[in-house]
Amino acid sequence: MCGVFGIYGHDEAANITYLGLHALQHRGQESVGIVSRTGADFHRHAAMGHVAESFSQRTLEKLPGRAAIGHVRYSTAGSSDIRNAQPFFFEYAHGGIALAHNGNLVDAGEQRSRLERGGSIFQTSSDTEVIVHLLAQATEPDTISRLLAVLKQLTGAYSLLLLTETKLIAARDPRGFRPLVMGRLKDAFVVSSETCPFDLIEAEFIREIEPGEVVVIDGDGMRSLSTSESRPPPAPCVFEHVYFARPDSLLNGRSVYRVREQLGRELAREHPVPADVVIPVPDSGVPAAIGYAREAGLDYEMGLIRSHYVGRTFIEPQDSIRHFGVRLKLSPVRAAVVDRRVVVVDDSLVRGTTSRKIVHMLRNAGAREIHLRISAPPTTNPCYYGIDTPSRSELIASSHDVSEIERFVTCDSLRYLSHGGLMSAVGGSESRADFCSACFTGDYPLRPDASQGGADLVRLRTTPSRAESEISHG
Ligand code: AMP
Repeated sequence: MCGVFGIYGHDEAANITYLGLHALQHRGQESVGIVSRTGADFHRHAAMGHVAESFSQRTLEKLPGRAAIGHVRYSTAGSSDIRNAQPFFFEYAHGGIALAHNGNLVDAGEQRSRLERGGSIFQTSSDTEVIVHLLAQATEPDTISRLLAVLKQLTGAYSLLLLTETKLIAARDPRGFRPLVMGRLKDAFVVSSETCPFDLIEAEFIREIEPGEVVVIDGDGMRSLSTSESRPPPAPCVFEHVYFARPDSLLNGRSVYRVREQLGRELAREHPVPADVVIPVPDSGVPAAIGYAREAGLDYEMGLIRSHYVGRTFIEPQDSIRHFGVRLKLSPVRAAVVDRRVVVVDDSLVRGTTSRKIVHMLRNAGAREIHLRISAPPTTNPCYYGIDTPSRSELIASSHDVSEIERFVTCDSLRYLSHGGLMSAVGGSESRADFCSACFTGDYPLRPDASQGGADLVRLRTTPSRAESEISHG
């Protein structure tokens, strides 16, 4: 889970990239980095932590040039390391290149072992470094053909930005798992994981970069190339709509906010319950709770207040901290819930520990009944394409049915949105695989251990190999 941002042709490239990353901070809070370029000279600053605290005016002044790319990283537990902070910068036979990646290469373990057997020395534990080594070994005569040859060897999810001595290049994998959009800021081109930075920097949204598309931006303007001759069906991640993207972004041509509101409406239609008030789990459950309340004709209140001075509790690496973190982050509003039958709306239930704590808090605050409504189906399968989900054994819905989870969470009722309801809200179809919803269905568009160009739509019931689980992803 990461965010990428790049700009070409602006006097304040690093400053704008800083702002872009600021707006993408929700996509990764562990590390941040920017690489800028003046001619053939590259300048890099990367740090652990949030964007605002990692860059000062002085650091930004040390990143001159009219082109820059940046990255915010959200890693899986255990791989917190500044060496994994992106963008990576490397110099190879053809000059300098900086690279920023969002997504997971599903066969990174195998690729890495193969490259190591051939003499490659890896400096990070990141899957992204595989791309660096493949580029260094490519023998094609120019950067673009080298890159196209490398992309053909990749299997998995990538929304990729590369900054070379003359170009900014953006590439999206053939299934388009992770989002990537482009826009214009006066004469400059901007590329970003989401559209929300464009509002901040007052850029104009042009369009999404298509699955399988490579966009090259240089002194001659912008041109588009295609990575793959065979076009697999696109499989953009549905969980971006459910949880991950910012609600003010546009995704797959739709407002994330409106999609979430619609998820809430569908949920209210599927699972009504006699109640007095609807409250969201802030911030992720807010638009869906608004939709639920509107559809059900119920009052909507802020029954939980979120402290904005703690990060997402999910990112804390240790269980003890994460559990404490929920109480640190959310506090019940007694006046909104006391003596009332409360519908609590959240976007997803993963381990169930957050919901359990919330139910406990609301009971202590005097709620008479607590009906938990989740604006997505049960999360039953881990993601191999860039969302940080725990292993299958920690996903409560992989081994427990709804009534068992209800008992664990200690709510009066628990209901999830159906997969059909989800698809209708995001504009997909139940029968066609318009989105990747493997975390809810187990239908993986790509096998985690697929060989090159691996088989499509393989239903998997396996866990990743050891080598894969040791590779950290961004
Ligand atoms: P849990 O206690 O594991 O059930 O956590 C559920 C909460 O985590 C929900 O409020 C979700 O909004 C949030 N959540 C779901 N998936 C993720 C994720 N991949 N990263 C961070 N938070 C998440």
